[in-house]
Amino acid sequence: MPFRFHPGPKDAETRARRGTLETPHGRVETPAFMPVGTRASVTGLTPADVREAGAEIILGNTYHLLLRPGPEAFRTLGGIHRFMRWDGPVLTDSGGFQIFSLSHDRVITEAGARFRSYVDGRPQLLTPESSIAMQTAIGSDVMMVLDVCLPSTAEAPEIRAAMERTHRWALRSLAARTNPEQALFAIVQGGLDPALRAASAGFLTQHPFDGFAIGGLAVGDTRDERGDVVARAAELLPPDRPRYLMGVGTPPDLLEAIGHGVDMFDCILPTTLAWQGTAFTSTGRVRLTRTEHRLSELPLDAACACETCRGWSRAYLHHLFKCREPLGPRLVSVHNLRHYLDLMRGARAAIEAGRYGAYQRERLEALDRHEHDRSARPPGRRRLPEAPASPGAPAAAAPPEGARFHLVVTSLGAPAVRDAESGEVMHPVIGPAVEAERLYVAQSRLRERLAEPGPPLVLLDVGLGAGANALAALRAAA
Ligand SMILES: [Zn+2]
Repeated sequence: MPFRFHPGPKDAETRARRGTLETPHGRVETPAFMPVGTRASVTGLTPADVREAGAEIILGNTYHLLLRPGPEAFRTLGGIHRFMRWDGPVLTDSGGFQIFSLSHDRVITEAGARFRSYVDGRPQLLTPESSIAMQTAIGSDVMMVLDVCLPSTAEAPEIRAAMERTHRWALRSLAARTNPEQALFAIVQGGLDPALRAASAGFLTQHPFDGFAIGGLAVGDTRDERGDVVARAAELLPPDRPRYLMGVGTPPDLLEAIGHGVDMFDCILPTTLAWQGTAFTSTGRVRLTRTEHRLSELPLDAACACETCRGWSRAYLHHLFKCREPLGPRLVSVHNLRHYLDLMRGARAAIEAGRYGAYQRERLEALDRHEHDRSARPPGRRRLPEAPASPGAPAAAAPPEGARFHLVVTSLGAPAVRDAESGEVMHPVIGPAVEAERLYVAQSRLRERLAEPGPPLVLLDVGLGAGANALAALRAAA
């Protein structure tokens, strides 16, 4: 059965819509969430667990599967479905995102991306053609074109150049497709610039792609910026083709994007955060490692019917995380996936009933303020003590009128920068120079590594807090 998309009923108030994907491995009701099975495994879960949670399609990462087990394994063993025993549809990304965000030793040219394998150190070349060949070997139902990924906050000329190369690569990917049963989606780029996004959608929709993704978001942008881009981009995409928002996001992100007419989503958050002990629940995030759950007989989420919520108390889950028992992440992964997939199920029912707008508002209100209040303090960040603890230490200067960042003094007398909006303090205890030296230079054995022959030192992370770390690395290298 070749790939087809059947658009379904639309919501009365918003642009949300129902739909059905038909693929060689079965149907997918949209809006759909795709659990991420990076290395042909949704970490810690069997395909039966993933199916039980309500998933109809999963995502695999071409970059990781290319390096291990490699194309030969898939060609010999008959593709990803047989290999991992998942008989439903699979979408594979092209590997572009990982190459651009994870690989430190890479060169991008018009031909493609050269990088070194993290598995065996051997040089690799990923081109639009080789990405399609790998996705063909994997045997996914939906393939993605190789695109050029930049932070959405990059400079305009860079974003334009990346977008234009993405377009050329999309056409090369289309020409390289050999199996017409495998759908191919193009990726709309263009950063946060509405004109570039419109140019990208305008160019790509003239070509016979089976669907269109909105890429390059959730890489440095805020939720409002993301929402604007998604709303505009979705409007420019043809109604008879599925729309896929790549790598975004939290439950509120999903609720908003569905309202803009997006059909497909993937995100690592429900599985990644499960391994850190964080659960998504109907009333917001629950951090199971916190002591408050030590004696709690409550289920993780009283509104959830998953195996975890039916079977075990928060106290037991807290205990598993405290003991680092692998059952803990597994049980929370089961719940988190079910939570995301129930959210999608609810959205589909609400669209059919013509009341998606009301559903969206109800769900957003019920979620923890932390999830959608951008002024809330980020998790795990310590607040600076309000007054200096040691006598004689200079007091924190009052922030100038309207200034977001200002200098303060920590309890140990070290200088630090405070973000007035979030309350976050950069290098809150011992000062940036000492902290960077101890945490980033000493722990990473940077001096020893620099003494050995190797590739040049490249510093990528130079945000406000990380600037001090970069300076410490440069001092170590000098
Ligand atoms: Zn549950």
